[in-house]
Amino acid sequence: MSEEKQVKVHVDKVNKSYGDNHVLRDISLDVMANEVVVMIGPSGSGKSTFLRMLNQLEMPNSGLVEVDGYDISDPKTNINKVRENIGMVFQNFNLFNNYTVLENITLAPVQLGKMTKEEADKRGRELLATVGLSDKADVSVNSLSGGQKQRIAIARALAMNPDIMLFDEPTSALDPEMVGDVLDVMKDLAKSGMTMIIVTHEMGFAKQVADRVVFFESGKIQESGTPEEVFNAPKNERLQTFLSKVM
Ligand code: ADP
Ligand code: MG
Repeated sequence: MSEEKQVKVHVDKVNKSYGDNHVLRDISLDVMANEVVVMIGPSGSGKSTFLRMLNQLEMPNSGLVEVDGYDISDPKTNINKVRENIGMVFQNFNLFNNYTVLENITLAPVQLGKMTKEEADKRGRELLATVGLSDKADVSVNSLSGGQKQRIAIARALAMNPDIMLFDEPTSALDPEMVGDVLDVMKDLAKSGMTMIIVTHEMGFAKQVADRVVFFESGKIQESGTPEEVFNAPKNERLQTFLSKVM
């Protein structure tokens, strides 16, 4: 039983400031292969900055960030290669609105030479079935609801066959009746063994799906543990206050 689990994300004592605003303070976090980590915490606590740092949309001022075994603060690291293995889903979808659904999904893998157009189309249609939108392949993204757009955004990220998926409040911009469909797609993805880091305010989802819940506050990880530990027996006073407001 000596098989070691693979570390997918290794963050060690990372600090990040914007001017005088010290946004991430000595953050350390490891995420293992197949693990689902849910990040919770108040607005402005540094959750998005942390996620964005994992694919070098932000650079830390100090500390180590390794993703998939690559030191992403090392200038010799080919960040585009690393990014190909990291899917990211944002609050506001970031789809190409003037393209069809299938075009949105196939654009990156074809342009980056990962697949031929035919392979990408085939994979794209499989992914559309996975997210429950097979019938939408050829419609314009403009015609979709927010919940449908977000499921397309997830399919698009998956089209690159990523090792890790990052989600930054994927349901925060959706009408309430759309939230469940998107969360269901994410649940299936978690069951399939995808390594996921998810920022969300959906506490019920976090309880159900997270292997580990991490509470961010004032740029620090104030507490982390299993959903049972964090939700049922929070130790940190700030976490107790936060939970009393959101649950
Ligand atoms: P959260 O996602 O938890 O709401 P953020 O990571 O977005 O928090 O923001 C943390 C802090 O960093 C906030 O004070 C925010 O104003 C600041 N911040 C985030 N991005 C930038 C940026 N690009 N430039 C300057 N300040 C930023
Ligand atoms: Mg945020």
